[in-house]
Amino acid sequence: MLNNTNFLQSLLVCGGLLMSLNTTAADLSIKKDYPLEKLSANVYVIHGPNEEVSKANQGFRNNPVLVNTKAGVVVIDPGSSLYTGEMLVKKAKTISPKPIIAVFNTHDHGDHWLGNHGIKKHYSNATIYAHQASKLAIASDEGANWIKAINRQSKGQIEGTKVVAPEKIIKDGDRIKLGGITFRIYSPGKAHSNSDIMIQIVEEKVFVFGDVLRDQNLSLFMASYTGNLKALDIGQKSGAKVFVPGHGKSGGKEIINRYRKFITALKGEVKKQFEAGLSDFEMAPKVTRALNKYKSWSGFKDNIGKLINLAYLEVENESF
Ligand SMILES: [Zn+2]
Repeated sequence: MLNNTNFLQSLLVCGGLLMSLNTTAADLSIKKDYPLEKLSANVYVIHGPNEEVSKANQGFRNNPVLVNTKAGVVVIDPGSSLYTGEMLVKKAKTISPKPIIAVFNTHDHGDHWLGNHGIKKHYSNATIYAHQASKLAIASDEGANWIKAINRQSKGQIEGTKVVAPEKIIKDGDRIKLGGITFRIYSPGKAHSNSDIMIQIVEEKVFVFGDVLRDQNLSLFMASYTGNLKALDIGQKSGAKVFVPGHGKSGGKEIINRYRKFITALKGEVKKQFEAGLSDFEMAPKVTRALNKYKSWSGFKDNIGKLINLAYLEVENESF
């Protein structure tokens, strides 16, 4: 007869075996075929699902960009998992026989950089570039916390993904030349996050905003509305013709204007109610009603309360 300790050990062994069987049996590669859309002679984008992370979208929801240079492919924001990274490795092979040579992470939110793992698994020599604050955050507990959060929200779809932190720090004004193409770096300070970089692909007239620009999509993250509006202006005045948001479809200046109008309306409504003496709690239903035309935007219902709260704090700070 098994004593208690032996019984417990056999349970653990069985559990371990079952778990490893499950992990090896599950094929978590990205099932849906997301098309590469051509934005200019050498720049392509995949418009990920414009929605929250779910089991159905396998945690994938951002807009990875591929740039075909003479030296190899450059990836901007490889998505939310080992599997989105591997999807991009396959897509890169359809535009160039050369390897992926570099990856840029626009900021430290996991839906944008967890795909580093998939790229590095196949191209260990690829260099990963990011803002210093991204590098620090990703290498800290925050990196591992992003894996847990997205794995939980996608019901295990990113299992096996590991933190692969950026290596090279980039800063405002840098011009990185790769295979004949210039990547002009802008670091606008506090905007969508504390670690945003925006990338102008100069010869291609394409500007990649990261989450500083979102089209018809709202999240609970915002570091500074004032900073975000200034960062939108930088892109608008850059001379680029095509703009890539972190979420939603790419387009011309109309998508910058659409997001600017939303931020301005939200902040304006909050300011109006603040000046009338209402607390953030009291003004939330009024502001939400005033922004009714945006209610079809992805994430509106879940995030508008938090966004009003953040706008209230900013208006309060700016009133001193
Ligand atoms: Zn973000």
